[in-house]
Amino acid sequence: MLVLIAGAGPAGSRLSERLANSGIEVVIVERLCNARKDSFSSAVVPINSISSNSIPIQAVSKYWNEWKIYDPLGVSHSWINSSNLGAVLDFSKLREILWDAAVKSGVKALFGWSVLKSFQTEYYVDVELRDPNGKVKNLRVDYLVDATGHKRSLIGPQQFAKPIPSSRGHNLLTGSGVEWILQANRNTSNIWSNKITFFLGSKLITHGYGWIFPMANDQLKVGVCRVHPPNKLFKKGLSNMQSLKRLINEYELSEMKVLDKHGGSINTSIKRHENHFVGRIFGVGDTISTANLLGGEGIRYALASAEILSNIFDKLHAKSLSQSNIKSLNKYYSKKVSQHLGWRWLISNRIARKTWLGLSDEKADKRLLDLINGLSSKASAEGISALLFDYKFERYGLRLLPYVLGRQRN
Ligand SMILES: Cc1cc2nc3c(=O)[nH]c(=O)nc-3n(C[C@H](O)[C@H](O)[C@H](O)COP(=O)(O)OP(=O)(O)OC[C@H]3O[C@@H](n4cnc5c(N)ncnc54)[C@H](O)[C@@H]3O)c2cc1C
Repeated sequence: MLVLIAGAGPAGSRLSERLANSGIEVVIVERLCNARKDSFSSAVVPINSISSNSIPIQAVSKYWNEWKIYDPLGVSHSWINSSNLGAVLDFSKLREILWDAAVKSGVKALFGWSVLKSFQTEYYVDVELRDPNGKVKNLRVDYLVDATGHKRSLIGPQQFAKPIPSSRGHNLLTGSGVEWILQANRNTSNIWSNKITFFLGSKLITHGYGWIFPMANDQLKVGVCRVHPPNKLFKKGLSNMQSLKRLINEYELSEMKVLDKHGGSINTSIKRHENHFVGRIFGVGDTISTANLLGGEGIRYALASAEILSNIFDKLHAKSLSQSNIKSLNKYYSKKVSQHLGWRWLISNRIARKTWLGLSDEKADKRLLDLINGLSSKASAEGISALLFDYKFERYGLRLLPYVLGRQRN
């Protein structure tokens, strides 16, 4: 069996390694020639995704044990824990480690190559590739995996009953973010160390939030992200870039050297009703809506979906999937992923939609203030992690659920 994986993000590279370790012949094609390019993810993860070995510990740039939120009035609220609650990863390093592991397992890696398109029959898939010199090459494989992230370049148009016109299509809740890496000095970096800091309020950014995260070597990740609202809910505010510059100016970071600028998008269909495979093309990671837009988090879910898909390929390879399961492979695969994500994941994405789409005016700011003040008096740092990483919102039900579910209609 020959499998071609398009895209070597966390999902594609982890999947390729797992398949190669099971004796499956794998080619992975990644448009980037170097893992340090276009390192778009802020890469905050909860501590248990590292201790569970899902994410290699060498990819950790900094640990943190404090949540800090600046509310719409600019007042800060802190929740500190005695032990680490999470980590900020070096996303480039994570990719390097995953790429290395894949190559060591025997994966044939084509870095700097792109997958252009594919054509499938009942028995094989013909894939058109572009090499680093711009030459077009063709490869015939048994299966193709679309691991191209939010672009869903290969499986996308066929995933939905109605084609998606673009990444802003009506089927998908999409967020886009920009982030700069700044070289701070020791004093400034100390202010932001050991904590992840978020900035909320429609004056700074409508339909989204800003952040400052610590990195090793006194570097800071400063970014903003916003969800794209449908036209009827759109409230014009600052652009992502204007919000980012304002954040940098307000918190006196404008003198710092900018080491890198990047940006990206993240999307989900929320209900995850899209096809997870079409004929011989499978999706994995962001292409099958594993990302969660509450905190713009997708790395651990992309890795988990890769593990699930690798088990399915093992069974296909060993021909041990029952006929009924093969027939209903879509259901089988999406059910396995949904079971892993759990019902809380689904509700938290709905909360994300309500929260970010509704965050556009003073009224919304006021609701947010009430919520943050409530959390400030009641929640512990572990409680905030349980809320934002494990989606245990019911313990704040009276305060949180009416806020997010009841008052906005969209
Ligand atoms: C601004 C921003 C901030 C984020 N912050 C966090 C965070 O703090 N924590 C977190 O957990 N998640 C975060 N995420 C989300 C997280 O980065 C993604 O969910 C995760 O990277 C998804 O992994 P993936 O492998 O599915 O896709 P990706 O990581 O997107 O990988 C897709 C790969 O496919 C390649 N590719 C695309 N098209 C082609 C083609 N035609 N041919 C060949 N290669 C191709 C791309 O170069 C890329 O390497 C953030 C996302 C954004 C945009």
